[in-house]
Amino acid sequence: MKDPLESAALEIIKGIGEDPSREGLVKTPKRVAKAWREITCGYQADMDKVFNGAFFKAQYREMVIVKDIAFYSLCEHHILPFFGKAHVAYIPDGRIVGLSKLPRLVEAYARRLQVQERLTRQIAETLQKTLKPRGVGVVLEAEHLCVSMRGVRNETAYATTSSMLGVFQTDNRVREEFLNLIKKH
Ligand code: ZN
Repeated sequence: MKDPLESAALEIIKGIGEDPSREGLVKTPKRVAKAWREITCGYQADMDKVFNGAFFKAQYREMVIVKDIAFYSLCEHHILPFFGKAHVAYIPDGRIVGLSKLPRLVEAYARRLQVQERLTRQIAETLQKTLKPRGVGVVLEAEHLCVSMRGVRNETAYATTSSMLGVFQTDNRVREEFLNLIKKH
């Protein structure tokens, strides 16, 4: 049976009026299918494996923050990329998570068809649920190609979204500390 992603790519090439048999395009459906599997691999992510048990006991009570995590996602309305930076913070309650796991968490949810608001919330809620810290703060800043490439007038291609849980929601000082720390210089 033919790969449905490959067939779909072929139909798009035909649909936009191109000649799928010309040299540069002959292998394109195969390449597109492979690229698509890769950029949507988040559907296969298992959150237990993402964290891989990398929780450690710690008495540290201050904010842990990982800034400028590059991410690439796909807008579910146009299936065009949106991409930018994620900032993820939490305040531990007896345990911490390996710092390298936070970019993996972002990636597991980014590599799907998404809206930026849901992506932001899923990152925050999964960290809150699995690590059980005193609170979580997540801010995403992204450019949306479905806006900037198409030149839609009166709409900004850049969006910032945030999700604040626990003390990040209830304590203004915590939230402000987080927002100050991620501010551009
Ligand atoms: Zn879109």
